[in-house]
Amino acid sequence: MSSVTVRVPAKVNVQLSVGPLRDDGYHDLVNVFHAVSVFDEVIAKESESISVRVEGESADLVPVDNGNLAIQAARALAKHAGRTYGVELVIRKAIPVAGGMAGGSADAAGTLVACNELWGLGLPREDLMEIAADLGSDVPFSLLGGTAVGTGRGEQLAELPTGGRFHWVFAIADGGLSTARVYAECDRLRAALEEVVAWPQASDALLAALKAGDARALGPELANDLQPAALMLRASLARTLEAGRELGALGAIVSGSGPTCAFLAADEGQARELAVALVGAGVCRTAVPAYGPVAGASIV
Ligand code: ATP
Repeated sequence: MSSVTVRVPAKVNVQLSVGPLRDDGYHDLVNVFHAVSVFDEVIAKESESISVRVEGESADLVPVDNGNLAIQAARALAKHAGRTYGVELVIRKAIPVAGGMAGGSADAAGTLVACNELWGLGLPREDLMEIAADLGSDVPFSLLGGTAVGTGRGEQLAELPTGGRFHWVFAIADGGLSTARVYAECDRLRAALEEVVAWPQASDALLAALKAGDARALGPELANDLQPAALMLRASLARTLEAGRELGALGAIVSGSGPTCAFLAADEGQARELAVALVGAGVCRTAVPAYGPVAGASIV
């Protein structure tokens, strides 16, 4: 086999509850992940050494050295297999960079699946999941896809079957937000407000709406504890969220650490109209209709 192509989805957190800051600097989370039809493609080609090239959406913002999560994934997989392997990776990006949709994690997951195949390792998914968890807390979900409840740092996953397809619009902003900065701002705000931070718990109403495939019930349950921090760092997002609500979205939320905003629509037609209207309102750079859940990293 000389080349393998893998398609891997972005995610939106339909619930992101951030617990108290732990001694190790992490937070315990309840993170309800939902994979959506915005895909990066990872192409793995035979090569002597490990390298990466990035094409497409904001490619110039993505490092092509060891800082690239896809390179780290290839190296981690080779190490696990106990051999020196090479691969030329090409990433076709559609997931916004530093957009709160786990684009880097998606590329890492895609690389694990692609290199497992290219190198003929035949490792089972459980092994890839273990390597993924070491690479970053969102990487295992990018492998798994669908909808899942993550606990711990987000890496312990329980799959959640959903009763139907949900339609979304993702309003993509100019420039990204650093996830670390948004968490730090969340801690700062909580300290300033002397908030007593509760232990995070999955919302029963949210899980029931997902299970039933009921978008109208899901809309008001969308919740993101990072949203106040993202709004502090990027005040314009308040206007984006408000515009989506006024245009009839069933729910509006900052996606993960932002600055992408996610809007839940009643159906595909409304999602398409909402995307056009959001761009027309001048509250985002572009708006992308999508649906979920979709499968995790898959060979095409
Ligand atoms: P999350 O939602 O997991 O917090 P994000 O979607 O906000 O992440 P990413 O697109 O994953 O953010 O990128 C965060 C940073 O990681 C980027 O600014 C970039 O410097 C670096 N990075 C490393 N590898 C990649 C990659 N393959 N794709 C995108 N960014 C990458």
